[in-house]
Amino acid sequence: MLSLERVLAWLRALASVFAKAKDELTALDAAIGDADHGINMDRGFSAVAADLAASPPADIAAALKAAAMTLIRTVGGAAGPLYGTFFLRASGACAGKGELSPADWVAAFRQGVEGVRQRGKAEPGDKTMLDALLPAEAAMHEAMEEGLGLSEILRRAERAAEAGSKATIPLLARKGRASYLGERSVGHQDPGATSAHLLVRVAADTLA
Ligand code: ADP
Ligand code: MG
Repeated sequence: MLSLERVLAWLRALASVFAKAKDELTALDAAIGDADHGINMDRGFSAVAADLAASPPADIAAALKAAAMTLIRTVGGAAGPLYGTFFLRASGACAGKGELSPADWVAAFRQGVEGVRQRGKAEPGDKTMLDALLPAEAAMHEAMEEGLGLSEILRRAERAAEAGSKATIPLLARKGRASYLGERSVGHQDPGATSAHLLVRVAADTLA
């Protein structure tokens, strides 16, 4: 079972991982966007870690909701509201749960991804964060159906998210700033798919 402590460890680890990945994500966004994705993710998650430390949440749903609100408040770019929606919808799926079973976690992740899809109106293959999130969700679901435990569920999801983020390289962007480049967006890895892979990788490293 997944405890509040583990979820908080995940959110705190995201702050340090996005601080380290800041330059890499910003370089990816420099190629097909406005060179701020790393700055956005670092700013957002360092604020999440600070806010969680300042007002410790009572349960998992409250922790995820606090993260959502902080991301929406502190991140100016498209990614802030999108990741904010991810955590808000995941929070809703965790309401009233003291701990999460693997099935609860997969359901919360699925709700989060569904929220991103609804909010951003992107489709698979549009070269967005969804191209990492959707394969991760599918891999989680499949691993759960096979009866695997949380750590293997998360490992599979991590590999699928990584493959999904790399698979954005040949795609033509159809959503967000990168879409303004048309054909010139081809040949570059999507920054948001890359940060989404990190989100899942850190989950695999800290939640299991
Ligand atoms: P901005 O594009 O406003 O500068 P960021 O640079 O922080 O914001 O985030 C860019 C990332 O957001 C893109 O790489 C893409 O993955 C994601 N993104 C942009 N628009 C959408 C959308 N409509 N749906 C899903 N993801 C999107
Ligand atoms: Mg940007």
